[in-house]
Amino acid sequence: MSKYVYLFNEGNAKMRNLLGGKGANLAEMTGLGLPVPRGFTVTTEACTRYYSDGKTIAKEIENEIYEMLEKTEKVVGKKFGDPTNPFLVSVRSGARASMPGMMDTILNLGLNDLVVEGLAKLTSNERFAYDSYRRFIQMFSDVVMEVEKAKFEKILDDVKEENNAKFDTDLSAENLKEVVKRYKVLFKNEKGFDFPQDPKTQLMEAIKAVFRSWDNPRAIYYRRLNDIPGDWGTAVNVQEMVYGNMGNNSGTGVAFTRNPSTGEKKLYGEFLMNAQGEDVVAGIRTPQPMEQMKEVNPAAYEEFVKIAGILEKHYRDMQDMEFTIENGKLFMLQTRNGKRTAAAALKIAVDLVEENMITKEEAIMKVDPKQLDAILHPNFDAKALKAATVIAKGLPASPGAATGKIYFTAEDATEAAKKGESKLILVRLETSPEDIEGMHVSQGILTGRGGMTSHAAVVARGMGTCCVAGCSDIKINEEEKYFIDKNGKKYVEGDWISLDGSTGNVYGEQLPTVEPEVTGDFATLMKWADEIRTLKVRTNADTPADAEQAMKFGAEGIGLCRTEHMFFNADRISAMREMIVSRTEEQRRKALDKLLPMQRSDFEGLFTAMKGYPVTIRFLDPPLHEFLPQEDEDIDALAKEMGMSFDELKSIVLSLHEFNPMMGHRGCRLAVSYPEIAEMQTRAVIEAAINVNKKGMSVIPEIMIPLVGDVKELKFVKEVVVKTANEVIEKAGVKLEYKVGTMIEIPRAALTADEIAKEAEFFSFGTNDLTQMTFGFSRDDAGKFLDDYYSKKIYESDPFARIDQTGVGKLIDMAAKLGRQTRPDIKLGICGEHGGDPSSVEFCQNAGLNYVSCSPFRVPIARLAAAQATLKEKLGG
Ligand code: PEP
Ligand code: MG
Repeated sequence: MSKYVYLFNEGNAKMRNLLGGKGANLAEMTGLGLPVPRGFTVTTEACTRYYSDGKTIAKEIENEIYEMLEKTEKVVGKKFGDPTNPFLVSVRSGARASMPGMMDTILNLGLNDLVVEGLAKLTSNERFAYDSYRRFIQMFSDVVMEVEKAKFEKILDDVKEENNAKFDTDLSAENLKEVVKRYKVLFKNEKGFDFPQDPKTQLMEAIKAVFRSWDNPRAIYYRRLNDIPGDWGTAVNVQEMVYGNMGNNSGTGVAFTRNPSTGEKKLYGEFLMNAQGEDVVAGIRTPQPMEQMKEVNPAAYEEFVKIAGILEKHYRDMQDMEFTIENGKLFMLQTRNGKRTAAAALKIAVDLVEENMITKEEAIMKVDPKQLDAILHPNFDAKALKAATVIAKGLPASPGAATGKIYFTAEDATEAAKKGESKLILVRLETSPEDIEGMHVSQGILTGRGGMTSHAAVVARGMGTCCVAGCSDIKINEEEKYFIDKNGKKYVEGDWISLDGSTGNVYGEQLPTVEPEVTGDFATLMKWADEIRTLKVRTNADTPADAEQAMKFGAEGIGLCRTEHMFFNADRISAMREMIVSRTEEQRRKALDKLLPMQRSDFEGLFTAMKGYPVTIRFLDPPLHEFLPQEDEDIDALAKEMGMSFDELKSIVLSLHEFNPMMGHRGCRLAVSYPEIAEMQTRAVIEAAINVNKKGMSVIPEIMIPLVGDVKELKFVKEVVVKTANEVIEKAGVKLEYKVGTMIEIPRAALTADEIAKEAEFFSFGTNDLTQMTFGFSRDDAGKFLDDYYSKKIYESDPFARIDQTGVGKLIDMAAKLGRQTRPDIKLGICGEHGGDPSSVEFCQNAGLNYVSCSPFRVPIARLAAAQATLKEKLGG
């Protein structure tokens, strides 16, 4: 028979999959002999069973829970529901991967009208007993019974106001009794029955609620962001309560063994006396920094420092710990590898190697490649920053620079982002887990309340989003959507502000930013990654500026130059349009003659920037709708340039209209109809290569034919390319090597890759189109309905961002094998958006590709992900 419940002394850190992170670490700390309140963990398997049994807890599991409860009662010498010696517990979620704030917690469970009185007598502390009861009623009602938290908070605020109390701690026992009374009335009004008094019912309902919370919308969203599978489930930890709210000799706090923002090796954290866990993160009272605990309770502080040291050595990583002091005695409630900013992650990884605590390989595995995104984005321009005026200052909660328009609710920010607004700052009094989507779409988050461990700070750091928290300099009116800065100036929705998450400064204007660099610890870790990885990393770049940026980030070539993107500029688009709307070869050749010198100089620029690294140039692949003139004004101007009448050109434009442009006359299909386009592009590439090689370079250009579905298409276009190239080379009287390959982006190409490899010297998987055509989802429209697929758990992640390994991946695997069958030395790469996504990079490594190609800013991410993939492959093989 399966075991579904484990006492803390039955588990250990290796049982993370079964006990969840929190449960496994509580067990490990218990094993280390640290002061951990007793308890037990209901496993993740019990959670998945709860779902497969139709959202019920099977009798056998229920019995096992009661059995472990009894065992725990015996050890602690207290009894559930016994007013003379009550046993109270916390019920907390804990998944395999930590999901801070995403799921639910209930404290002080086991209280009822009788037990609360018993507790008051036993502790001679009536205030404490009723404070615990009001907290319990509120949490249980909110989490388990879905009565809105705000309604309880309103009551609490009313009672505070009636009694002139500023903080919760100013309320007397009598006041709290009144709160409890009103809470119970509210509960009955809302639910139609009395607040549950039986502790066992409370416990089972709370466990079910934690299981349910695994599937709440914010948890689903968080899982999607962090690649956490939906079938893992969460464990539930039931643990003896220790009380931080027993008076001024009690308290609770959160601390890290190193600074999670900078990585500095120094204990870092906050605590709050006479408080329970939620108070520290909720930001209602401002917590004190950890150093002050030295004065408040030196003995507990010393002990905590010692334990923090033990835990960091034991886990060989920076720890994030929660603790409670009950009447002067320290208890550890949690430890886990701490979330940290990208800068801190790099510093800690490099420092731990230097401290001989971990190996370079372990350091590489410790940094999440996705996180690097945060430091691969611009910083404020130093000059502009100096000249700017600080309008307020808050806590530097998550570093980075953000400039954007302000929005006062997560919904408004999400809406604005959907409408295409790309620079947003979310301004809130404080954030809550419901705000996660709005936080994610924002470049920066500014909160009026809360400390360094407030929800906003923790979540922003996790996302790599810039955040300034606890900014009491500004007065925020969320309802009317404005804030007033310290000089009295008013800011409304849509106004620009800038945030510096490293200093906490807020600026009332839009500030220019500068490009980031890979230096210091970042460069060190990247060097280690490069020594290990076997997969090459190229970039997708269409301009010399992009190519140069990518080189700075360590790119080893261009995997995709989209030549049609070279014509978006106003001075070039007309020549491109002219080419598209030409009706005769003569007209077209005239337009192509205009394009040739532009292309040639672009390619010279790219070859020069890439300093001899391989450059893959993809021939024109313009979806017609992106390039055709739409406005009458543009049609008129073009008609004049081409010596046509407006009506004539307008009718051509109308005749070129396509119902499905993404599946239309693009890619190699254009060159099949109009070989002169491929001729011109070949000429430009080859001439550019000859020109730069004359200056001492040794470029071997790679010409890539897009959207091939049949080897005969490739053969046809390739013949044009080879004929033209050889003519140009012969005429120049030089020697030049070049390669012709193709993209595999149509399922038929993948299915017939053995045929295609007869003509192609290389394959590059265009996973954007391959995903679009394999799923039959339009790349441009799928975003409009994919949300429904996530919420209905049909898909867990966006197939356009993360390779669908089951379907699209199967095609890639197959095409790679078939290609190699025909041409064993065929070079294989990927150039779709997936090339910079860490889990997709791992897939590419396993599929045996030679390189990935991604946008310049993602090159370091791909380098690290490739090193991790190599290490994982070594471990697995
Ligand atoms: C692709 O389809 O994956 C690709 C890289 O080409 P594009 O995005 O230009 O269609
Ligand atoms: Mg494509």
